[in-house]
Amino acid sequence: MTSLMGDPDVTGRFGEFGGRFVPESLMPAVIELEAAFREAWIDPAFRGEYTATLESYAGRPTRLYLAERLSAQVGAEVWLKREDLAHTGSHKINNVIGQALLARRMGKTRLIAETGAGQHGVATATAAALLGLEAKVYMGEVDVARQSLNVFRMRLLGAEVEPVTSGSRTLKDAVNEAMRSWVAALDDTHYCIGSVMGPHPYPWMVREFQRVIGDEARTQFLKAKGSPPDWVVACVGGGSNAAGTFAGFVDTPARLVGVEPAGGAAIGRGVGGIVHGMQSFFLQDEFGQVNEATSISAGLDYPGVGPEHAFLHTVGRARYDQITDDQVLEAVQLLARTEGIICALESAHAIAWLVEHQEEIAGASVVVTLSGRGDKDAETIAARLGFLEGDGHA
Ligand SMILES: *Cc1c(COP(=O)(O)O)cnc(C)c1O
Repeated sequence: MTSLMGDPDVTGRFGEFGGRFVPESLMPAVIELEAAFREAWIDPAFRGEYTATLESYAGRPTRLYLAERLSAQVGAEVWLKREDLAHTGSHKINNVIGQALLARRMGKTRLIAETGAGQHGVATATAAALLGLEAKVYMGEVDVARQSLNVFRMRLLGAEVEPVTSGSRTLKDAVNEAMRSWVAALDDTHYCIGSVMGPHPYPWMVREFQRVIGDEARTQFLKAKGSPPDWVVACVGGGSNAAGTFAGFVDTPARLVGVEPAGGAAIGRGVGGIVHGMQSFFLQDEFGQVNEATSISAGLDYPGVGPEHAFLHTVGRARYDQITDDQVLEAVQLLARTEGIICALESAHAIAWLVEHQEEIAGASVVVTLSGRGDKDAETIAARLGFLEGDGHA
């Protein structure tokens, strides 16, 4: 690798992290995918189609918004990158449109995907509908029961939802099942992974499909202020919105911060290992078994982290801090009441970081990626705050 967040070589390594740890039977598929992506990503026709689709369909560019009342509260100049305004309500649309266009270019007619909370499943079903592809989404049985509205959305969009009954019947099992089923259908099927994780080329490819966040934000910030921001902050589940954001600023002096949930901090509390085709940090027990992450935000419940974040952490280019569920609930309310924006619980981790680190960022400029909107979380938030039963707030 030549520069930070540049193109990895064929081994797909970010320092010691990443790689391509897949069974022999999947090797041809990931090699074919890497070749197709390398070729497409330097083809102006493909880039043009991707950009045009993001503009006409997904609502890009999203705004970079100076949050004045929030800024006054935290004592810093806070600019929000509004991925919550993208179609389907989060940054996930950027990645699925890229992968669906690539799948079609490769002659595939079918997408499969894993999903935990259902957000990536809904995004994949959306992109499949847009391009006339079939979609099948693997989802742990436990998550199917927990996220019935998203299951309905996927079905309404024409996707098949396959409940996964192995293991703990949650996200990590859905990933395993999706990989297994891919082997049996390589000819016509593309596996659409939802974050910067999995075997090479996924961590790189998904970061590239998400770098539109950082590239836009950088242009927008420079236009407004004339020089780069002091800080750039984003929440980290698998790490795709953060990776896409960081990619736009990694060659500036901006300090990069990834915010993990305290109950799912793969960098903060994980150990090195090889899971889901990649070397990275994972929450594991004393026997090396992968533990489940537990966070109020289902979208941050992945027990690992993308390998490039493991690398950026190890070399010290980005810093990773943790935020608790209680801090997240405070932050959702703070943003709602200062700016009239109800953000996703995932995104609220980044807002909570501003509150927690007020002294450090005093007077500085901060770009915060607001990865998604909070409609999907209204019930969770209401239950935790007790707003539903007339407690004086309602
Ligand atoms: C899925 C999701 C995340 C977490 O995914 P990353 O790959 O870490 O970006 C964050 N925010 C929202 C709104 C999501 O839907």
